[in-house]
Amino acid sequence: MFESAKAPPLYRHDACACEECDLLIPATELAVGEVLCCPRCGHVQARHQRLPRIRPLAYGMATLVMFVLCNSFTFMGFSSYGLGREMSFLQAIGALVDAGYLFLAVVLSITLIGFPLVYVGSMMLVIWRLDRQLHPNAMRSLGRILCRIRPWLMVDVFLIGVIISLVKLMAMADVTLGLGFWAFVGYTVLLIKTISSLDVHWLWQQLFGPVELEAPLVADRSAREQALVGCHVCGALNTSHQHRCRRCASHLHSRKPASLHRTLALLITAVVLYVPANLYPIMDTVFLGDDSPSTIMGGVILLWEHGSYPIAAVIFIASVMVPMAKLLSLFWLCWQVRGAELEAPYSKLKLYRLTEFVGRWSMIDVFVVAILAGLIRLDNLMTIYPGPAAVSFAGVVIITMIAAMSFDPRIIWDLHQGERELE
Ligand SMILES: [Zn+2]
Ligand SMILES: [Zn+2]
Repeated sequence: MFESAKAPPLYRHDACACEECDLLIPATELAVGEVLCCPRCGHVQARHQRLPRIRPLAYGMATLVMFVLCNSFTFMGFSSYGLGREMSFLQAIGALVDAGYLFLAVVLSITLIGFPLVYVGSMMLVIWRLDRQLHPNAMRSLGRILCRIRPWLMVDVFLIGVIISLVKLMAMADVTLGLGFWAFVGYTVLLIKTISSLDVHWLWQQLFGPVELEAPLVADRSAREQALVGCHVCGALNTSHQHRCRRCASHLHSRKPASLHRTLALLITAVVLYVPANLYPIMDTVFLGDDSPSTIMGGVILLWEHGSYPIAAVIFIASVMVPMAKLLSLFWLCWQVRGAELEAPYSKLKLYRLTEFVGRWSMIDVFVVAILAGLIRLDNLMTIYPGPAAVSFAGVVIITMIAAMSFDPRIIWDLHQGERELE
């Protein structure tokens, strides 16, 4: 079932519409390692992977092994004044459930265990059964799951959260790192390799073949001008009168429906949540009966006063600057695309890409609180409780991520060309 060492060096990538500016990109032959970029906006549309079947399978398998190892050994241990405790990764999540912090436990379980395992599992199943396919609908569902889960995999953000928690912990107690911790580092790196070694468009092409179009295509025009719609899941081109994609059966939209209104509604919700996220304490440290709650900003100031300048800077950037900058830039983009014409579309697209890229990193502080609250429970000596702001701050980050996904960057180019139809 695996490709031979003399696999054909060229892979023919179907004609497609750029996901970010809707420009029609004709079918292109790609050599191994070659990247297909949109000639107008530079968006990376596809990358011809070396050994496109074996590598994701091997990385996926290794990711699963690391996950098992991570849960079989101690993740982290710490002791203070002769009292101490050691915990595996799953025990730390269990401790959050026991203490009644169900929301944090659910966020951790979904982003660190649920989504990654479903992603790796469905990817391995699809690739393994590529020749002897399951029922086509089952293959379509698995393929769609792969595409939808991808933005929500946050193990790398969690890893940075663990490192920050370590620095905070070292100031309070003696910390030991177990084998489980190092396995988690392996799990993170291998999961990132698995994701980057899989070309989703290639996979769809292998599953259901190329999508042929009868009409001749014009390369330097948008898909919409040629009555075509690019599928946002599998990338196949469809004619605009179709409601579902011919290849993956996803709903088709030339532009995301009610993109501006949805984005604005989500942004306003995030702003409302942003207030309690900053006013209430995010974490409450009880040390020898002494209770000291701290807000996000209070935590940054405290770290700065203790001389942990790099950590204070990371938390300040991730938890204060990024959410604020993201909300402001999305509001600004919505304001910009309300008009009839638009200048400098590329700089606006770059701003949009930046907000999409940095958004998930704001979860760092939520992860830090969850790790410390799961780990540090030494009864009367020292216990850390998550504050009410942890829930609202996680809400701000998740809702702004969805808001960024609801915004359709193709509108920027429509307005630039002055071809936008009134919605
Ligand atoms: Zn483009
Ligand atoms: Zn599709």
